[in-house]
Amino acid sequence: MPIVNRIADLHGEIAAWRRDIHANPELMYDVHRTAASVAEKLRSFGCDDVVTGIGRTGVVGVIRGRKAGAKVIGLRADMDALPIEEATNLPYKSTVPGKMHACGHDGHTAMLLGAAKYLAETRNFAGTAVVIFQPAEEGGAGAKAMLQDGLLDRFGIEQVFGMHNYPGLPVGEFGIRCGPTMAAADYIEINLEGLGGHAARPHLGVDTILVGAQIVNQLQSIVARNVDPLQAAVVSICLFQAGSTNNVIPQHARLAGTARSLTHEVRDLLRKRVAEVVEGTAQLHGAKATLTYTTGYPVLVNEERGTAFAAEVAAEIAGKSKVNTAFPPMMGAEDFAYMLQERPGAFIYVGNGDSAGLHHPAYDFNDEAIPLGTSYWVRLTETALAG
Ligand SMILES: [Zn+2]
Ligand SMILES: [Zn+2]
Repeated sequence: MPIVNRIADLHGEIAAWRRDIHANPELMYDVHRTAASVAEKLRSFGCDDVVTGIGRTGVVGVIRGRKAGAKVIGLRADMDALPIEEATNLPYKSTVPGKMHACGHDGHTAMLLGAAKYLAETRNFAGTAVVIFQPAEEGGAGAKAMLQDGLLDRFGIEQVFGMHNYPGLPVGEFGIRCGPTMAAADYIEINLEGLGGHAARPHLGVDTILVGAQIVNQLQSIVARNVDPLQAAVVSICLFQAGSTNNVIPQHARLAGTARSLTHEVRDLLRKRVAEVVEGTAQLHGAKATLTYTTGYPVLVNEERGTAFAAEVAAEIAGKSKVNTAFPPMMGAEDFAYMLQERPGAFIYVGNGDSAGLHHPAYDFNDEAIPLGTSYWVRLTETALAG
């Protein structure tokens, strides 16, 4: 199997970086230790340029091939962890209470560092590889912040590639698909005002718990009865706060949740119907509803040629039968979508084996996936920039 030999040699070193990052998780844009360590390593590898502070705490490394070539590609990893209390007994378990790398961004960062080390050592390509380490993937739109700081134009990046580990997909396998791959995720917040009062005299009040419950139910009719059954959509209310005791009808209630879709049309429909349902239902019961609908990450759309190319490279590493090119889309969101809105390219999944799921307190990135992911990055670069 053509795992790059030198990458196999680097496996232990890359795993040690990964475990160090795992033990020291940082959230959102506050990835100062991780970013400093990434920048220091990129410099020690001899990258031609290392730039920090792009998108607040993002880091970029520039590696030029030793053959002449003008093409520039961007390879992207994410560095941030999650506000979750780790529930493992790993020797490199999180040392920070309430924070952990439960999405494998420790592995993503380490694998891209490994690729940077190899690429800076060998430089067997024509053109320029730009390695991108972003903060705040978990809800902070760090990719967008890097774009707003001019990432693509500043380094002349023409194509972008991203990777995420995938629990449940065996180690040694890749998954990818062309077109919509991950969901647009928007956020719903509803503040209800009714008329509080004595629980024994409900006829004199407007019960925000009843109104809120009706809204939760009615919102479910959107996916069931407004969205084309052949299209994907999610409307989930995940928070419902009201009341403080057992004999008072509460004046206020607060609900929050998310609406997700894989196309612009469905995204617009959800937005319109959520507003109508919330307003109509509140009005029906004499309550006042204030809806705040926040636009989150866009749909992640893999571009056709970039996807075919990424799948070919993965097949070269793992074998054709180990690359599922019709991997099902999922309703999670990913801010690499912003980069794919600006440049052609593709996002691929690398198997994490039989681990706990992403964002689970027992999750751990699988170090056995390191040679696969790292080899993918270096072969991708050497092939895209073959000259
Ligand atoms: Zn995540
Ligand atoms: Zn993630």
